[in-house]
Amino acid sequence: MAGTGVFEEIIEGQVFKYYTDGEWKKSASGKSVAIINPTTRTTQYKVQACTQEEVNKVIDSSKIAQKQWAKTPLWKRAELLHKAAAILKEHKAPIAECLVKEIAKPAKDSVTEVVRSGDLISYCAEEGVRILGEGKFLVSDSFPGNERTKYCLTSKIPLGVVLAIPPFNYPVNLAVSKIGPALIAGNSLVLKPPTQGAVACLHMVQCFHLAGFPKGLISCVTGKGSEIGDFLTMHPGVNCISFTGGDTGIAISKKAGMVPLQMELGGKDACIVLEDADLDLVAANIIKGGFSYSGQRCTAVKVVLVMESVADLLVEKVNAKVAKLKVGPPEEDCDITPVVSESSANFIEGLAKDAKTKGATFCQEYKRDGNLIWPLLIDNVRPDMRIAWEEPFGPIVPVIRINSIEEGIHHCNASNFGLQGCVFTKDINKAILISDAMETGTVQINSAPARGPDHFPFQGLKDSGIGSQGITNSINMMTKIKSTVINLPTPSYTMG
Ligand code: NAP
Repeated sequence: MAGTGVFEEIIEGQVFKYYTDGEWKKSASGKSVAIINPTTRTTQYKVQACTQEEVNKVIDSSKIAQKQWAKTPLWKRAELLHKAAAILKEHKAPIAECLVKEIAKPAKDSVTEVVRSGDLISYCAEEGVRILGEGKFLVSDSFPGNERTKYCLTSKIPLGVVLAIPPFNYPVNLAVSKIGPALIAGNSLVLKPPTQGAVACLHMVQCFHLAGFPKGLISCVTGKGSEIGDFLTMHPGVNCISFTGGDTGIAISKKAGMVPLQMELGGKDACIVLEDADLDLVAANIIKGGFSYSGQRCTAVKVVLVMESVADLLVEKVNAKVAKLKVGPPEEDCDITPVVSESSANFIEGLAKDAKTKGATFCQEYKRDGNLIWPLLIDNVRPDMRIAWEEPFGPIVPVIRINSIEEGIHHCNASNFGLQGCVFTKDINKAILISDAMETGTVQINSAPARGPDHFPFQGLKDSGIGSQGITNSINMMTKIKSTVINLPTPSYTMG
């Protein structure tokens, strides 16, 4: 159960504490933030509403701890990360329980998220040892006008304090995808968890605490993003921001100072279906890609662009599968569970109603109970409907019928987003041409978009992000190159 056993010290009374200087503390604000269970729509947990003064102190300790950590041998950093990964996996049950209650993630998927996060931390440790143990050696005479009088040695050095802000939908996994790379690279880490998902994150942080990381190296400040977010992201003590979420990220990039940014934002992933596609495979992937976790995934299939000649058959096959989806509470491992908040459910409903008013075809009856929205395939969507462009982040999938491949590519590229996309065809040559033409960070051929495995590069073009994630890329992003140049009095040529 949450807040019991090894997690007892992270809660006092009804309110979970925040973490700084190796200790769990209550905020001087005396205020708390409620976390609403999306299923019951009542308060499930409470977390501290940290003050700006507390944020200042957290960043000060973080700065001090980082200096020592940067002097800690790489193998020792890796050893501690492996330990944290093992502790996290050992305590997967209570952490998964928090995910079920805070974000209504189906029970089995919640466990999978925690286990995947442990694996991610271990992989960071291994990859860090490999790539941070290497540098470059350059000689000067490859550039015109130079003789071999300069030897340049480069290595990767930490940035300092990394601020990590994950979103609600994978709070643990997207937190560790920032924590692991930051720590192995010698940085300290300040985590601002999403409000929905904060308690799962606090439990995860306790696993790092139990692993024995130095005081101040990891901190976790809680509070509403709208209240402490700007103060954190514009804080002069922060040396790098790794953010995953929605449009908030665009605002952060405009406000943040001269610090490296890693932004993983929204998507409107298109699924282009050609006439020769295996329609059973496509239907299975639309179900998995569009409706898993009720569509609340950045890489969910968010628009199907299908050739008119096979559209009827595809819609029929998808509908048959939609009918089999189990709708209900996350505790019962239902496929479709309540979306994260009432405002989110209202937004999804607004998109569906707009499409209906403008003449789209609902393949199922629209049904909603509280935050629970029944899965809905919307056929005959046209570009004048909001659902053709906006990210619903819910269990509704629009279908646009197209008459040419160019039409599909054009729709995909006209989007502000450019996260992922997918194409279904048996013709690999066409698939490659379409993949090259799609303006997205990744294109999946014959499978739905997906972020994992976690060591694959993952990036969005346009409003979908800045930089690239994936373990190796994140480690590199959280370091800077440092050069030392040895100047020789006379040119020196090996074997010369
Ligand atoms: P969100 O509303 O942008 O929130 C993301 C995080 O930002 C939360 O921790 C939130 O805290 C915090 N925040 C809010 N206002 C802030 C501010 N002014 N300054 C700093 N931080 C602030 O996104 P969400 O609703 O949690 O997640 C859904 C979105 O994330 C979707 O658009 C989805 O596509 C995107 N996403 C992208 C990826 C990717 O890798 N590309 C992966 C997953 C999700 P509070 O919760 O306290 O408000």
